[in-house]
Amino acid sequence: MDETTCREWICEIGRRMYAKDIVAANEGNLSIRMGNRLLATPTGVCKGFLKPEDLVITDLEGEQISGEMKVSTEILMHVVVYKHRQDVHAICHGHPVYATAHAVAGIPLTEALMPEVVVTLGCVPVAPYGTPSTRELADSLVDLVPNFDAILLANHGAITYGADLEQAFFKIEILEHFAKINILTRSLGEPTLLSREAVDKLFAVREKYGITAPEFRQFGCPVTAEDEVEVETVTLSRNELEDLLEQVILEMRKGVKA
Ligand SMILES: [Zn+2]
Repeated sequence: MDETTCREWICEIGRRMYAKDIVAANEGNLSIRMGNRLLATPTGVCKGFLKPEDLVITDLEGEQISGEMKVSTEILMHVVVYKHRQDVHAICHGHPVYATAHAVAGIPLTEALMPEVVVTLGCVPVAPYGTPSTRELADSLVDLVPNFDAILLANHGAITYGADLEQAFFKIEILEHFAKINILTRSLGEPTLLSREAVDKLFAVREKYGITAPEFRQFGCPVTAEDEVEVETVTLSRNELEDLLEQVILEMRKGVKA
């Protein structure tokens, strides 16, 4: 894909991210790897109204080479992802509402709830908090990037990546959709997890469709119905509890006398 087309794609996906509430105001950033250069969004511009000439070019360390505007301060996160994933050629970072709610609560999306998500996105962990725009944030991703295609950033947002920019965008869109369904489901009651057998069947299909993203399952993901520890809740009235304690004390006294 030539540079002009890459510039147009970033503007198009920026518009979709803004339209879908994945970013607000000037938030978020996007990039495409073109050989040994990165084409990236500048800082301080709304992603819904990007123009091809606004974009900047950096080297693979995130050092700006060209462009009128200044590169996003969050380019360091992108650098880490490209370094650890040779199969990745594009990245989306945003603050999608429901996914970010999970990131703020520190709750990863690791349960087997929907077949499409198991197959395409796998599990989504939460990276430890790092100050935005610093190396601390970029470093918090190092251990997770090789094993996952989407990561929640604690108290911050989400990052997804793929073979091209549309694939990266689909992942952040699916992540947000799934996070929303997850939160709504829990407001209705306890979610029903897919069984291990159902997940095994999905993974067989996954291979058939040639999905080459990391093998999420080796990390105990996703959590299936069989993995859930059953916690039985017992409710007692005050009288029943007092009777029970009395009985226990009587039994203990008998024991001491004997
Ligand atoms: Zn951010």
